[in-house]
Amino acid sequence: MLNCTNLSVSIKKKTILNDLSLAIAPGSVHAIMGPNGSGKSTLAHTIAGNPLYKVTNGDMQFREKTITHLAPHQRARLGIFLSFQQPPAIPGLKVLLLLKEAYRALHPKDDIDTERFQQQVEQYLSLLRMDRAFLYRNCNEGFSGGERKRFELLQLLVLKPKFIILDEIDSGLDVDALALVARVVNMLRAQDDQRSFLIITHYQRILDHVQPDYVHVLCDGSIVDSGDASLVHQVDQKGYDAYKQNTP
Ligand code: ADP
Ligand code: MG
Repeated sequence: MLNCTNLSVSIKKKTILNDLSLAIAPGSVHAIMGPNGSGKSTLAHTIAGNPLYKVTNGDMQFREKTITHLAPHQRARLGIFLSFQQPPAIPGLKVLLLLKEAYRALHPKDDIDTERFQQQVEQYLSLLRMDRAFLYRNCNEGFSGGERKRFELLQLLVLKPKFIILDEIDSGLDVDALALVARVVNMLRAQDDQRSFLIITHYQRILDHVQPDYVHVLCDGSIVDSGDASLVHQVDQKGYDAYKQNTP
């Protein structure tokens, strides 16, 4: 589904990712673990097409198309969704309007009427244990940490992307909120056996709830170790310093 080949990425002329290769097959869940500042969010934004991040070498293919130079909205249309680590507030844009317009842009052939659309959204809201009034608030304006994360999940449920990048969706959540996030992610996983995930985290706890097929350790902009789900516990025991010592 997604192939990153020998990817090097810089921001403001500073190299962040270095010769990174990653292949994600349809229907698989990959986890990227790594310490703060290792380049996890850079990788996420590079896949989503944030123009701040410059690809200086290598390329990216998504469902057999080269996406390296596509705009973010073109990548979104192909089915890529990035859940932000720090979603920005958009004053004046109501949640329901964003969902409706984004759904129309991503699914132009589905001429679902407004009433039915809203009914579906409300079902997802109750799944996320959110109030209907949420739909009429401005996107991320004054949202608590937990509300921001649930809004990201609401977008996923409504927009039904093919490839989902979750950038630290688990950070700052209490046990109950984490369990809810995990339940929704597992539901999205079960809904479509071709859907793939890239779960970015520096803790093991979300990966206890959402079993990854593959785990990669990112340090200083390079993948320094890859394995199956058992790697999560090794990383947890060894810590990231053990890896850092091996990199210059
Ligand atoms: P992680 O998500 O693993 O914590 P990031 O990808 O956010 O790491 O950051 C990797 C490196 O890139 C850090 O050294 C960070 O300071 C730098 N970086 C990321 N975004 C920016 C930015 N917008 N401007 C300048 N430096 C940045
Ligand atoms: Mg980050």
